[in-house]
Amino acid sequence: MSETSGHVGASEHVNAARPRDARPHTTDAGRPVRSQALLDALRTTVVIADGAMGTMLQEHNPTLDDYQQLEGCNEILNVSRPDIIAAIHDVYLETGIDAVETNTFGANWSNLSDYDIEDRIEELARTGAEIARARVEAFEARDGRVRWVLGSMGPGTKLPSLGHTTYANLKSTFAEQALGLIRGGADAFLIETSQDLLQTKSAVNGCKQAIDETGVCLPIFVEVTVETTGTMLMGSEIGAALTALEPLGIDAIGLNCATGPTEMSEHLRHLSKFSHVPVICMPNAGLPQLTKTGASYPLTPEQLATAHEQFVKEFGLGLVGGCCGTTPAHMKAVVDRLRGTPVKARTLEVDPGVASLYQHVSFDQDSAFLAIGERTNANGSRAFRDAMLAENWDDCVDIARARCATGPICSMCASTTSDATVWLT
Ligand SMILES: [Zn+2]
Repeated sequence: MSETSGHVGASEHVNAARPRDARPHTTDAGRPVRSQALLDALRTTVVIADGAMGTMLQEHNPTLDDYQQLEGCNEILNVSRPDIIAAIHDVYLETGIDAVETNTFGANWSNLSDYDIEDRIEELARTGAEIARARVEAFEARDGRVRWVLGSMGPGTKLPSLGHTTYANLKSTFAEQALGLIRGGADAFLIETSQDLLQTKSAVNGCKQAIDETGVCLPIFVEVTVETTGTMLMGSEIGAALTALEPLGIDAIGLNCATGPTEMSEHLRHLSKFSHVPVICMPNAGLPQLTKTGASYPLTPEQLATAHEQFVKEFGLGLVGGCCGTTPAHMKAVVDRLRGTPVKARTLEVDPGVASLYQHVSFDQDSAFLAIGERTNANGSRAFRDAMLAENWDDCVDIARARCATGPICSMCASTTSDATVWLT
């Protein structure tokens, strides 16, 4: 931890952290026992997570020195002002929640490279997890009740589907973040506020890379963000997200941010019906209303508790929490309403299909056979391969259009590696 801190209480939080190289107790599969307990809880008793971090940070009014002259870089506070981060975790833990999120939302390449400190991804992720781990263990020591650390992984601002960066760069740098979260003592990865499925995929596979490197198999939770338009920022419907992400072997899927619970309802209904893994939800405190002093969130603590109570009953959620605009008072209301609530069993429907970036298409067949266009395949069509290698995208699209006219599904292969195989419909 940095010597620049010097704030009363900081060393206490640091010293309580687990030894850097201590490996967690694991099951035979390399799954830490604590993480397995979290996974079990998601299927039996509703887990309650914390609320917003950003607004709480602002209330502590960090100085430019606290930010080490990197104004707005919240993750630097993990080393410069761990006492602030610890105090925020404490306020949430006092409400009786079961899990805290680490202050590592922006401990990624996209955010840290804006400050020219992308070489500190692992460090800032690790220190964020260490602070949360220490506070969780302090509360556990009081009453023996297990609490969990969710390693927050935000999307960053550079979207691979828009060509802002490459999948490979994101995957390898998310792996650094995941490595830090493992070393700092997180119990699960929480890939959240996902806007672009290719970015989400890079984060999931980055986590898997870190798991392979360490042998510590943390669960991977994913939350996508569906805008008021009804799709993710890149235009993906919830069905496309589920179809694209579930086969990657994630351990929970859900929604967070952008809207309040009301707007999330129909998307949660879809996940509740079709997701084989637990469904989770961390809404904002309603749709933000712009005021002269900034965004204001209209949902009261009781209203958030009522929404979550309804979701838990109707959709069988395994974990609930809060995003922008939610406060300790909100989480206290949720705890009072839902603490110890059993997870309602869901009746799953099976709908095999494929997804493009935009939508899920079921393998329904009205006619005798399902036509899958194969011409847009770099291995099967010389015309397509030549056009692709020449970066003649208009020709590629023309070939795809011609295929799409013949059937509902068009298989596209742009590489010989399966990693880059995508389905277009
Ligand atoms: Zn949010």
